[in-house]
Amino acid sequence: MKVAVLGFKGRMGHEVVKTVIREADLELVAVLDHQPKEKNIREIAEFADMDVPVFDDLETLLTKVELDAVVDFTTPKVGYSNTKLVLAHGVSPVVGTTGFTPEQITELTELATSKKIGAIIAPNFAVGAVLMMQFAQKAAKYFPDVEIIELHHDNKLDAPSGTAVKTAEMMAEVRTEKQQGAVNEEETMKGARGADFEGMRIHSVRLPGLVAHQQVQFGAEGQGLTIRHDSYDRISFMSGVAFSIRKTAELDTLVYGLENLI
Ligand code: NAP
Repeated sequence: MKVAVLGFKGRMGHEVVKTVIREADLELVAVLDHQPKEKNIREIAEFADMDVPVFDDLETLLTKVELDAVVDFTTPKVGYSNTKLVLAHGVSPVVGTTGFTPEQITELTELATSKKIGAIIAPNFAVGAVLMMQFAQKAAKYFPDVEIIELHHDNKLDAPSGTAVKTAEMMAEVRTEKQQGAVNEEETMKGARGADFEGMRIHSVRLPGLVAHQQVQFGAEGQGLTIRHDSYDRISFMSGVAFSIRKTAELDTLVYGLENLI
């Protein structure tokens, strides 16, 4: 499959480029950065033996290059417009960029369905994280009191993380809605109790040295249950990205969340 990578110089984009080059059935045919110094990826020492054009404009890339899939790991600001443009050109987007609103996901799903294009948006491509979300959903049916603590590196732009929001959405499907904490609870310092998703609290930790981690902590009378996943290295996301690129060829709509595919 012919693949382009958007945001190829970012932490995730760089790892995706190496993955696409490594996988025998995937071919890297273009990359995009918003302010590239290079015209070809071979100008970067580690890719000296490659011949892949670098673009700074997505419309031009989509017009000039024949593609099966476009992988987007850019920023919450441009991820949505990129995905819309990729779909408009009849190409399959595989999106790891987080920060999409439910309305944007719905709109992109309708667009993919109307054009019968396979597309995947996943807030987390690590299989362990998908299992963590599924286990948390299972537990939420029996433990409605739950708080999510997500921990990421300190360059992350959006908070809470897409994974935390997705986990909360999945738990909300089975959890009896409940406002947690004391009825007359009062924050003496704003934000102390975290974000509120249908009464569940989400806390975002940002520290250097972290990659992507999440703890879903349940409490009930006399017992507690903690489900935790750690991505220590960005390689943890790559099997999910490669799987998703291939999977788009079998789909004719947009799938939000890897848990709906594995
Ligand atoms: P990053 O290192 O900041 O990479 C983002 C890249 O996009 C940077 O190279 C940035 O360039 C570039 N960029 C910015 N604006 C652009 C534009 N208009 N067009 C093209 N490229 C543009 O961030 P990251 O850690 O790789 O994360 C990227 C996204 O993936 C985030 O939304 C993050 O939350 C998400 N993420 C998802 C998963 C998952 O499994 N789904 C896992 C990890 C991270 P400059 O630096 O020059 O601005």
